Amino acid sequence: MEQAKMGTRAIWSGEAEQLAFGATQVPVVHSVSFGYDDMDEWYDVAIGKKPGHIYGRNTNPTVQAFEAKIKDLEGADAATSFSTGMAAISNTLGTLLVPGERIVSIKDTYGGTNKIFTEFLPRLEVDVELCETGDHEAIEKEVAKGCKVLYLETPTNPTVKVTDIKRMARAGKEAGAIVIVDNTFATPINQNPLALGADLVIHSATKYLGGHADALGGAVCGSEELVESIYHYREINGATMDPMSAYLLLRGMKTLKLRVDKQCENAMIIANYLQTIDAVEGVYYPGLEDHPGHDIATEQVKQYGGMLSFSVKGGVETIRHLLPKFKYANRAANLGSVETIIGPSRTTSHVECTPEERAAMGIPEGLIRYSAGIEDVEDLLNDLEQAFQSLPTDIFVTA
Ligand SMILES: *Cc1c(COP(=O)(O)O)cnc(C)c1O
Repeated sequence: MEQAKMGTRAIWSGEAEQLAFGATQVPVVHSVSFGYDDMDEWYDVAIGKKPGHIYGRNTNPTVQAFEAKIKDLEGADAATSFSTGMAAISNTLGTLLVPGERIVSIKDTYGGTNKIFTEFLPRLEVDVELCETGDHEAIEKEVAKGCKVLYLETPTNPTVKVTDIKRMARAGKEAGAIVIVDNTFATPINQNPLALGADLVIHSATKYLGGHADALGGAVCGSEELVESIYHYREINGATMDPMSAYLLLRGMKTLKLRVDKQCENAMIIANYLQTIDAVEGVYYPGLEDHPGHDIATEQVKQYGGMLSFSVKGGVETIRHLLPKFKYANRAANLGSVETIIGPSRTTSHVECTPEERAAMGIPEGLIRYSAGIEDVEDLLNDLEQAFQSLPTDIFVTA
């Protein structure tokens, strides 16, 4: 039989193995340990000779269903999970990098990831080279000098810059580097980095995968060998996903396709609308033809995504007036949920950075990140309109 399409797989994949008692839904197995009467069986499971569970820090049935589903959606051979997206990133880098090695990445990674690159990896004497995001030649040049890891994120947070994964994966392969892509923004619905040549794909499951802003989680997908080594690092270091979170994320993932399709549709309409607003300085969305990543995105993604950002005239002062006016948006540090979420980059994705660091990353202080929800788009447009109309007319003119 032909492989089912993504919307079907999002619902059905990964669950059958964990069903018991004729239940049609995966149970939340709240048990820290798993007992055995047969000492030989216990031993065989403990050394990995037989499938089964020993202790919740290592494996859990509900968590395994989550892993099986994301593995299927990313078309991977294996997947493992984490308590958060940052745990997925730090544990992966902790597994792969030792002192004296080198990692090449881009300047526009997620704020927390950027902190790992600038604060924690240098402490471990790992050499970090951060290239201009979107400057493919510069990345190729640095990779060719030799590196253990090439770490990418596309599209990026918050200015949604796009990197050509196929081209970068080729560069990585030639240099013998392990190519990692943070696929949180695109989701497996819009982009499968492994199919484009990447070795590992990372998710903050907290965002689109869960989709309801009620559970934290992370995932890493790739080859059996790489994932096994990352799993081993995690089982010892302990950043394990909680079974309840796994359940909530699994439940959310069933509607991933529906949600992401609608969010992409809404984001495109909103990006076009924002371009007509006087108080808006710039709109960043890869679906817009004037976006620098538009052509690569058109080749690379199935849809342009549910994330966009825009900068307002008058900077922080305008944001202070504008954001409280929204009726249908949470003002919060999150994204990818069913509800629309807005926030200034200076308080959300890049709160860890100084204004100077943000400026160096091309993030204006007046930048607002907009995570389109699944609301009826007419209501979102009306909400934007009334919020902009409420701005004192002089605020952005004189600022
Ligand atoms: C949120 C986010 C992370 C970190 O995920 P947490 O679950 O918050 O730890 C990593 N990468 C990207 C692109 C994100 O948006």
